[in-house]
Amino acid sequence: KGARLRLPPWLKTEIPIGKNFNRLKNTLRDLNLHTVCEEARCPNIGECWGGGEYSTATATIMLMGDTCTRGCRFCSIKTARQPPPLDPNEPYNTAKAIAAWGLDYVVLTSVDRDDIADGGADHFAKTVTNLKERDSRILVECLTPDFRGDLAAVEKIALSGLDVYAHNVETVRELQRANIDQSLSVLRHAKKVEPTLLTKTSIMLGLGETDKQILDTLTELREARVDCLTLGQYMQPTKRHLKVEEYVTPERFAHWEKVGNDMGFAYTASGPLVRSSYKAGEFFLKNLLK
Ligand code: SF4
Ligand code: SF4
Repeated sequence: KGARLRLPPWLKTEIPIGKNFNRLKNTLRDLNLHTVCEEARCPNIGECWGGGEYSTATATIMLMGDTCTRGCRFCSIKTARQPPPLDPNEPYNTAKAIAAWGLDYVVLTSVDRDDIADGGADHFAKTVTNLKERDSRILVECLTPDFRGDLAAVEKIALSGLDVYAHNVETVRELQRANIDQSLSVLRHAKKVEPTLLTKTSIMLGLGETDKQILDTLTELREARVDCLTLGQYMQPTKRHLKVEEYVTPERFAHWEKVGNDMGFAYTASGPLVRSSYKAGEFFLKNLLK
């Protein structure tokens, strides 16, 4: 198909840096933490780490190494069928480092580890438990793989003491390579076994989806009792990855934010640079204080 689309002006703007940013940046060095924020050179780092209105600093930490057993066409993570084994001390060491860092809200995420029997669910759960023991005040979100629909794995994490269970459906039903029914069952199950936690998902726009497909997917998400929704622009990581079909305008993103709010999501964050963990702590607090 045709040439690549040009980057529109709204994706080139400078992003403000909040007041916690320098403190976090300076204390990170000795902690041996792998943040997605830095490693993916996320443009939101100034806002997320800096905290906003409520001064809630958010960061995303990657567990279980940097090599994934899947290879999604929109993702630039390294892949291998048999990545290096898990570090059994990681849940303890990571929890210790996060607690020492001084975050308000942490997103724990991972690559997919289809080579491990429980997909790494126990590893996730242990990290949450260790972290909450050290710092009961910190808010914890786990952004998990689909565990190939293994609901026992989902349950282990849902009952680990976390505050938000996130799993991204990534795109509308019609453009899925993964199984959206499996993703919906993950989200539904987390809510069922622990109704007090918030569930959350994220969709990328700009992959060629239609308005009707977006609306239908949002309806399915509400039916699965998903609480929180984020919508952001898909960006092509390299030439070998899926092409951007459309740069969705900020006005269109605002439209979807309104649609999400009208449909009853506890919060909807929608904008060209929004990512699933974008200012997650800020949104969480705003929602609690509503
Ligand atoms: Fe980090 Fe996510 Fe915020 Fe990007 S959007 S800076 S990855 S917490
Ligand atoms: Fe990337 Fe996740 Fe797909 Fe792995 S499963 S390739 S980390 S999007």
